[in-house]
Amino acid sequence: MLGPQRWRIALALLGLLLTSGVGLAFPLMIGQQIGQVLEQGDYGQLNSFALGLVGLFVVMAAGGFVQSYALGSIGERVVYDLRTQLYGRLTTLSLDFFGRHRTGELVSRLSSDVTLVRTLVTTSATTLLGQTIGLVGALAIVLAMNTSLTLFLLGMLPVVVGLALVMGKQLEKLSAGVQDELARATVTAEEGISGIRVVKSFAREGYEYQRFAADLASNLRSALRMTALRAGFGSGMMLIGFGSLAAVLWFAGRQVIDGSMTLPLLTSFLIYGIQIATSCFGIAQVYGEAQQAFGAMGRVFELIDEQPTVVEARHPVELPAIRGGISFRGVSFAYAGQAADAEGEAPAVLREIELSIAPGEIVALVGASGAGKSTLMNLIPRFYDPTSGQVKIDGYDIRDVSEQSLRSQIGLVPQETMLFGGTVRENIRYGRLDASDTEIEAAARAANAHEFIVGLPQGYDTVVGERGARLSGGERQRVAIARAILKNPRILLLDEATSALDNQSEQLVQQALDRLMRGRTTVMIAHRLSTIRAANRIVVMEQGRVAELGTHEELMALGGRYAALYALQFRAEAVA
Ligand code: ADP
Repeated sequence: MLGPQRWRIALALLGLLLTSGVGLAFPLMIGQQIGQVLEQGDYGQLNSFALGLVGLFVVMAAGGFVQSYALGSIGERVVYDLRTQLYGRLTTLSLDFFGRHRTGELVSRLSSDVTLVRTLVTTSATTLLGQTIGLVGALAIVLAMNTSLTLFLLGMLPVVVGLALVMGKQLEKLSAGVQDELARATVTAEEGISGIRVVKSFAREGYEYQRFAADLASNLRSALRMTALRAGFGSGMMLIGFGSLAAVLWFAGRQVIDGSMTLPLLTSFLIYGIQIATSCFGIAQVYGEAQQAFGAMGRVFELIDEQPTVVEARHPVELPAIRGGISFRGVSFAYAGQAADAEGEAPAVLREIELSIAPGEIVALVGASGAGKSTLMNLIPRFYDPTSGQVKIDGYDIRDVSEQSLRSQIGLVPQETMLFGGTVRENIRYGRLDASDTEIEAAARAANAHEFIVGLPQGYDTVVGERGARLSGGERQRVAIARAILKNPRILLLDEATSALDNQSEQLVQQALDRLMRGRTTVMIAHRLSTIRAANRIVVMEQGRVAELGTHEELMALGGRYAALYALQFRAEAVA
């Protein structure tokens, strides 16, 4: 990810060299020149010496600016790339991934983990490079000036490296833990906020608060442990650094006493000593930060490296405009990660499904909850791949065709319609992004939605609240139907809302659905008798199998499960 930033990196390095170079050179200059200047007692010379120093510091500051700005912009760009790449990857992952991960956790990685990586690129990298150059340079200069003293200083090196290695490993581990716990707290908060109605209806505000506080408290404990470790490491390095300062003073002081060194030289030695000390401290801090960022980076790249389970064929066929025949050939399916049963077999949600649906046919799926209706429907747009068997559309195995050409011909009206936080118009346009306003309105009319939309405060330009909070269930459904009408797919998948709509609303929705279904192959999960009656055939599902298949009359005559279900569930409705 740093590759595209190489010019900025070069610029930053240039700035860094300038700053560090001046930082290293000026004590030497002081040591060599201040003695002469003072001995001559000339104010003019002192003035120009001081001015020269200021000039040097101006160069240093300019270098500092270039370096900070270049590194800062690298950091921001890397964060941008990382976030967009991560989000891009997330959206391409298959549905099973989202079944395994919770929203809050993913959001946490997208925000807080990425932010930690930025610290690594910007501040940490600058400090690390600058301080390392400072440290090595100062040591080299001191070495050239006084070998025995430097060798004595270098004796401390193994201690420093050993300390850093041990602490670093600990920090990386702790950091990953801290970020994990933060993600857990984010999940709790996200669920509490999005489920606020449930929270309030059970008066569980306090409970949710406690849950969040508890999650965050364990995060706090780990963060404190990490802080303690970093503080210990930092002050250890500080001790070593300033210890070296004392060593310089002691060594050089003896040489001043016995006359082999001058006081100005001692001054520059001292400045180098301070430089060595602060460099040690700086490097230690950065090292800690970097280890922390590595923990976070691991979490980010883990997601970027995640592979979708539903993969496009290597040479996908473009599905031509379809007629809409669907067939299931020996389709079995199990969700990944479901606990195996006693025989060690993954529980099959669908077993050996054989089903052919003709173009234009309307098929209703009925059966008890958990029978596998949604799962069967989810196989058609290839949200999941069957464990064995084939799903074919117009004779094409859907695994061989491009996802885009498949899904662009399938419309889905889910039970719970997700409206995005834009205007009503934008929400309908989601069905086809290049639709004109006239087409949108026509779709809304066909979906029986136009009437209520023009009654909204700003008509089509009314912004819907998060999750469409300002629209009723029936209204949201009709927006979803308008979306599907606009998309004009050959195959329609309907998941009928279970929640009872009021009579008038139901009629409007039903009418809209009838218009939508006209001339399209429709597979629907049906709960209401009226919709089931509209179907050409009814598939009764039971424990992942097709238990019965036929028209309403045929199944009633059969006197089996459908007849029983009918007696139990629909008679009252029919009588009413
Ligand atoms: P229906 O739509 O008929 O109510 P589903 O197809 O939703 O049934 O579910 C069939 C079975 O698969 C159920 O036992 C359910 O628990 C299980 N199931 C559904 N979705 C998942 C999932 N994402 N991961 C694991 N199991 C699932």
